[in-house]
Formats: sequence, structure tokens, C-alpha cells
Amino acid sequence: MTFSATGRSECEDVLWLSDAYVDHELSVQRRLSVLAHLGECARCWELIQRKTRWKLLLRSAVNSVPIPEALREQVRIEQESQC
Ligand SMILES: [Zn+2]
Repeated sequence: MTFSATGRSECEDVLWLSDAYVDHELSVQRRLSVLAHLGECARCWELIQRKTRWKLLLRSAVNSVPIPEALREQVRIEQESQC
């Protein structure tokens, strides 16, 4: 497998690309390169798994934050006072 000729090791390249990989922002070619490395390197595989889990956790946390009742009440009062 070949990454860019930067002199970095494959693990360093994967680490460097991991955020973009998790965000699905890599080109197909780079994505395949990362995937090929993950097939061979348990350490990077574990790292990507952790980042992916963390990302999902964050996303579900953001989506599940309820609008505070007090804020909803405040909006209702303001709307009524405008009429
Ligand atoms: Zn690695």
C-alpha cells in the first residue's frame, strides 16, 4: 500500500487521516488505503473504532438533548405577549 511520500509511517498517516476517515471526508482512493491498513494493523483498527464510537456517541447526545421546559415556557409567554 502506498500513501503519499511524506516519509511518515503508515500508522502515522492513518492517524493523520483518521478524523477525515470517520467523517467520510476522504477520497475513495485514500479511504481504501486506510481500510487496507486497518486490515493489517490492529492498533489503528482499534483507534478508528474508538473514534467512530465516540463520534456516534456525541451525535446521539446532541440529538437527544431535550429543549428545557423553562425555555419552552419562556417562548410561549413571549409569543402570547406579542398578540
Ligand atoms: Zn497502523
